[in-house]
Amino acid sequence: MRLIFLGPPGAGKGTQAKRLTDKYGIPQLSTGDMLRAAVSDGSEIGKRAKEVMDAGGLVSDDIVNQIVSERIEQADCAKGFILDGYPRTVPQAKALGENLRDKGIDLDAVIELKVDEEALVRRIENRVAETVAAGGTVRSDDNPESFRKRLSEYREKTAPLSEYYQGQGDLVVLDGMAHVDVVTAAIERVLEKERDSASSVAHN
Ligand code: ADP
Repeated sequence: MRLIFLGPPGAGKGTQAKRLTDKYGIPQLSTGDMLRAAVSDGSEIGKRAKEVMDAGGLVSDDIVNQIVSERIEQADCAKGFILDGYPRTVPQAKALGENLRDKGIDLDAVIELKVDEEALVRRIENRVAETVAAGGTVRSDDNPESFRKRLSEYREKTAPLSEYYQGQGDLVVLDGMAHVDVVTAAIERVLEKERDSASSVAHN
């Protein structure tokens, strides 16, 4: 199962990806998590990415394309993976397409979670409050200014991916405003349909 989750920051991509990871035994590949790990390791990539991330901007396509390309070659991705936060630009989607073609891998579905922006701001405020209450460290880009920038980057650079994947016939749009369990059930229905059609093709 190879999946892409699309949707603005706070749409619930990470939450849903984690649930699918448990159920299907395939890893969640979050470029945000990978980049934050690079920042905390103090690696060269991390040093280049930190300032852009803190300000809510997008890290360069070359860096994230490279990180993902290497990651999906690892053994735990053999059965599939869930991409969360990548691709985020049309050039990244094109690079991913070429990369998967070179590796002989097909995408199964692109799932977009639709949510309204008011709700997103509230969700991020809750995420910060919950992190503080649990004694955790708040992400350095979870502040109002960076969040606004992340949303505007999304609108400008990532939202066009819906049309891109729709054109390829891969896109399914789901209501990300529904309760998290309802969203999970809707995703599972999409994946089951996908699996059924893949097995009927295999049997024909
Ligand atoms: P969000 O909750 O905003 O979706 P992520 O954890 O997915 O956050 O990403 C955090 C930051 O990491 C982004 O704002 C961006 O700076 C960087 N980043 C993550 N994925 C990508 C990507 N595919 N391309 C460019 N930058 C990325």
